[in-house]
Amino acid sequence: MRGYLPDYDLSSTENLTEAFGKLAEGEKPFAGGTDIMVLMDAGVLPAGRYFDISKLKELGGIKVLKDQVSLGALATYSDVRNHKTIQKHFPILVESAKEVGAIAIQNRGTVGGNIANASPAADFPPCLLVYEAKINLISSSGLRTLDYTQFHLGYKKSEIRPDELIQSVLLEPRFLDYHHFWRKVGSRQAQAISKTMVAAIAKVNRRKIEDIKIAFGSVAPTAVRCRKVESFLLGKKLTSEVILEAKNILTKDIQPIDDIRSTGKYRLIASQNVLEEFLCGIG
Ligand SMILES: Cc1cc2nc3c(=O)[nH]c(=O)nc-3n(C[C@H](O)[C@H](O)[C@H](O)COP(=O)(O)OP(=O)(O)OC[C@H]3O[C@@H](n4cnc5c(N)ncnc54)[C@H](O)[C@@H]3O)c2cc1C
Repeated sequence: MRGYLPDYDLSSTENLTEAFGKLAEGEKPFAGGTDIMVLMDAGVLPAGRYFDISKLKELGGIKVLKDQVSLGALATYSDVRNHKTIQKHFPILVESAKEVGAIAIQNRGTVGGNIANASPAADFPPCLLVYEAKINLISSSGLRTLDYTQFHLGYKKSEIRPDELIQSVLLEPRFLDYHHFWRKVGSRQAQAISKTMVAAIAKVNRRKIEDIKIAFGSVAPTAVRCRKVESFLLGKKLTSEVILEAKNILTKDIQPIDDIRSTGKYRLIASQNVLEEFLCGIG
């Protein structure tokens, strides 16, 4: 059953001080609304007060700074897709943004909303893990910066406190000489929630792996960095035996479950296959 509209209140917010006041009163942020409106339509959005954060300039925009790129929480997938620096330095963010929902969702859905949701099937977290991003959380007490690896704690659980907003994600443009790979496996090409997805980057010299970072989504309660596969591959030359062993070791990094979208068995085999596709492409 749909949510009953009079149970909800949505107000606008002009500045951060006002936003922190609303958080203190238990109101919840509303960015693009692409997740919130679905929950309301499904009748599972808690009744209460929400405030629109879209005018908060401190959370907006993509800024190219001296040694890093700041991706404002309010940046949309379309902003990410069209940004020249992101295209050059972080191509899998662009690839994943292109596959989020379809154009209407890409125009409204935000980076901050995707992260705050803490869904294991969200498309950006695996990319942020391999690019070793940091995340800025802002409250009336100031800004705190965490490694992105510290942010997701479990299924729909994150490190964000009720008095905080996601302000931005910080990325260092230091992966120009890496291979970048993104693959989302779903039931169809658009409007698909993934059964598994991989974000991976690697630096390879004469077939030898000098650095590698691999993360999967939709196969655990949070997106996961595959540290066991990474440490096995580091320093190795890519042969068919090494690739086969990497696929076996992947079973120690991810243990996907059955759910409405897929079986754990299918997810594992598909994940091993996309890992093989990545490794064959860089060797
Ligand atoms: C048809 C459809 C297709 C979709 N396809 C995909 C897909 O392919 N891949 C994918 O990953 N997602 C997909 N989504 C989910 C959704 O679009 C994204 O997760 C989007 O990025 C959410 O951002 P938003 O701004 O709309 O969030 P909102 O709906 O506004 O908010 C979502 C949650 O985040 C909180 N929040 C928002 N911004 C902040 C902030 N700055 N600080 C703290 N909390 C905040 C809100 O309070 C709320 O709890 C899809 C949704 C729809 C409806």
